[in-house]
Amino acid sequence: MNDHCLKKCSAAESQWHEECGVVGVWAPGEAVVNLCYLALFALQHRGQESAGIAVTNGMHIDVEKGMGLMRDAFKTRVPTLAGHCAIGHVRYSTCGASLVNNVQPIFAYFSGGFISLAHNGSLTNARLIRSQLEKQGCIFQTTTDSEAILNLIARSGAPTIEEKIEASLKQVEGAYCLTIMTGDKLIGARDPHGFRPLCLGQTASGGFVLASETCGLDAVKAKFVRDVAPGEMVVIDKDGVRSKIIDTRPNLSKCVFEYIYFARPDSVFDGLSVWQARYQMGRQLAKQFTGEADIVTPVPDTGITAALGFSAESGLPYVEGLIKNRYVGRTFILPDQANRESTVDMKLNPIRANLEGKRVVLVDDSLVRGTTSVRLVSLIKSAGAKEVHMCISSPPITHPCYYGIDTAVKKELIAAVQSVEEIRRFLGADGLMYLSKEGLMEAVNDAANQCMCTACFTGQYPTSIDDVENSSKG
Ligand code: AMP
Repeated sequence: MNDHCLKKCSAAESQWHEECGVVGVWAPGEAVVNLCYLALFALQHRGQESAGIAVTNGMHIDVEKGMGLMRDAFKTRVPTLAGHCAIGHVRYSTCGASLVNNVQPIFAYFSGGFISLAHNGSLTNARLIRSQLEKQGCIFQTTTDSEAILNLIARSGAPTIEEKIEASLKQVEGAYCLTIMTGDKLIGARDPHGFRPLCLGQTASGGFVLASETCGLDAVKAKFVRDVAPGEMVVIDKDGVRSKIIDTRPNLSKCVFEYIYFARPDSVFDGLSVWQARYQMGRQLAKQFTGEADIVTPVPDTGITAALGFSAESGLPYVEGLIKNRYVGRTFILPDQANRESTVDMKLNPIRANLEGKRVVLVDDSLVRGTTSVRLVSLIKSAGAKEVHMCISSPPITHPCYYGIDTAVKKELIAAVQSVEEIRRFLGADGLMYLSKEGLMEAVNDAANQCMCTACFTGQYPTSIDDVENSSKG
């Protein structure tokens, strides 16, 4: 889900940036809030700005939301209602001031009772839909695109909640994985392109869990049942699980960046282990490498798996060269550039004994603005490394993502405005190599590029982006 960020952002910043994780639990007789909390906690990497849980016993709904990490958002209270169903959300937006109003799950009362919704992804026609709804007199309490879905559902004339949701989802474009809760149903939906992951699991006592990633199921010892298919809506209620494909597209567009950076390496997304994919990216990268080096060092944490793959393929020893302070969050968590830069220094420190006099292959998953890498190259050199060859386990990011990954606006993307050689010089590295798109596609078992969204590397967006592009022009 995304902020409209209506007033506080400059035109350049005003694109919607969201990275989120969603959970849904249907488990009558079980401690649903606990299950939801634990599954959400496992998804903390998908969003650190705010968190929320909504629980129902069929008659009442109890919602608790707050800013910050899970431990802060629920510091004073976790929902206490003993219910049979809960949904949860962790959110990370980079746009302007974080508004407490925007924290999910959002909920509302409508003719069918109450409804609560949690959304991961970004709609590419949300502004259009929102302005149409506003013209019809709709009022909004948040500046998120997710609320447009809630309004479409509430205003739908279809007879059942499933049909209302189906009719609403047919009007929205872009990326969404949703968990939706009413008094007597838990509903999960994944957009027909399959941009973001969503999976279904079952607890030992027969309850059902929906989670953005399989690590969320593992956290509550739920057995993985299957991925929710692109375009599918699953309805869970007292009669069990029902499924309906509500929309299909000729080609899937699963976000390849989930495999590169975003998802946890212990998750499995649409049958492919994120760890295995990253390891293969490292192997492919090593196949491309023609330079000479003594050691392979990862940028922790995300670079670790690819560096292991690089080492296995190249025969170069894998050596820890940087130690991460575990108490500093993901680099992008701080909103402005100065903060981002100082966070890198707080976050990573070199091990001189391992680096001194060495020609180092430094493996990281991506170069976005170059903020991290420029600091790292100088850190590693200051620890005595003879050469630093930066190897990136993804292709150059040249285009913004409109589907829920914060990859900055185009002019801030270093590869959109500089050549590889210019970037190498900017970084102060002795070498710079990116994984080729073909190598990446091999690594994710999609050599023919039939089912991945690679828009951030190619600019080939699988949906129309007119609405978001226009809005980002101010
Ligand atoms: P930069 O320093 O701007 O080039 O960003 C690259 C670093 O940020 C890499 O170490 C990545 O692991 C990390 N990164 C890449 N994409 C994202 C993202 N969407 N959100 C937060 N961090 C990211």
